[in-house]
Amino acid sequence: MMIDLIDAWERKLELVSRLESTLDERELESARRDPHARRLPRPCGLTVHTGLGCKFGCLYCYIYDMGFSRAPRPYPLSGLQLAYALALNPSVAPGGDGTLMAFGSVTEPFMEETADKALEYLDAVARLLGNPIQFSTKAWIDEMLAARLGSVPDRLSALVTIVTTSLHGVLEPGAPDPEKRFRSIRMLSSHGVHVCLFLRPMLPGLSERELEDILARALDSGAAGVVLGSMRVTRGIIERLRAAKYPHMGEIMRRIPGELKPGKQVTLKMGDVKRRITRLAEELGLRAYPSACAASVEVHGLGCAACGLGPCGDVSRIPDIDERGLRELSAKYDVSLENVVISDFEMLMAARGPKMRITQLREFVKGACKRRVIIRG
Ligand code: SF4
Ligand code: SF4
Repeated sequence: MMIDLIDAWERKLELVSRLESTLDERELESARRDPHARRLPRPCGLTVHTGLGCKFGCLYCYIYDMGFSRAPRPYPLSGLQLAYALALNPSVAPGGDGTLMAFGSVTEPFMEETADKALEYLDAVARLLGNPIQFSTKAWIDEMLAARLGSVPDRLSALVTIVTTSLHGVLEPGAPDPEKRFRSIRMLSSHGVHVCLFLRPMLPGLSERELEDILARALDSGAAGVVLGSMRVTRGIIERLRAAKYPHMGEIMRRIPGELKPGKQVTLKMGDVKRRITRLAEELGLRAYPSACAASVEVHGLGCAACGLGPCGDVSRIPDIDERGLRELSAKYDVSLENVVISDFEMLMAARGPKMRITQLREFVKGACKRRVIIRG
């Protein structure tokens, strides 16, 4: 299957102009100024913020070090404004095989304060852009909400976070009990939503028995797989965990690579824990995904080789690329390309043009072509 990059670009422009005829000038202006209109995708996809802040207060959460509050409020854009901002974003490739969308990064999407906004955004993205959607949650998903999520016109990839059953009272003081989250998995899967257990952050020091129990109960509740993610820490997180007397501080400290500088986040060395949990999951018959995007790619019937953890999903769905279309697209970013080499899982090229435009072009192409894009200056 050959991807038509210019067609994808034109669909984006067409959506922009359609929404410009729907929204008024004040609405358009606030969407244009919004970070969704220029944010770069992260490895898990383009993060969509359904709210600001989170009241669940997890001790291992880094959003409080980023300045977000414990008093959440819904994100200020309407669904149409969000779709407009995403369509404007030069890094976003539109459509069902385009940039992955990841809901729930600096907030919990389904707190009572943010749930309506999350549903409005899910509908808008699914209906107007059609991009593959994934969300992560710790909230209680009742029958009505699960049915509503099952009706979103996208085969959603849901991640329900449960990282401990023994220490959640200490570590996640405001979040629903894990028992309720196992029930959320059941609710979602019974309404046709593809659900994975989200084991992020993997906590150093938990016993094999506890991990096995979490995996087995998720499987029994209807989870199709488990997504593993390493723990990231800041000085603030370390202080909060110490103050709460987290019992495995030594395990955390010995996994910090190098020095933990003020204001910095570092990812703990967790390779051994990841291997152990992958083995436990596979023994139980639960699919272990190396990252959240791997689950989204598979759920949406795509293939991807955009990073060293892959290839993921159905590799036969990684599209072929027409070099002429790529060059035509790069001209729209004021970028000129030389020495383009396209292989099954990789694209290598030299690029000349404004640095930010080269980055945006790379992200668009990576989102559409699902390959690693290596650009030399
Ligand atoms: S639920 Fe998520 S966003 Fe909220 S505090 Fe916990 S980890 Fe952070
Ligand atoms: S190759 Fe897999 S892990 Fe890497 S970006 Fe693609 S889906 Fe994600």
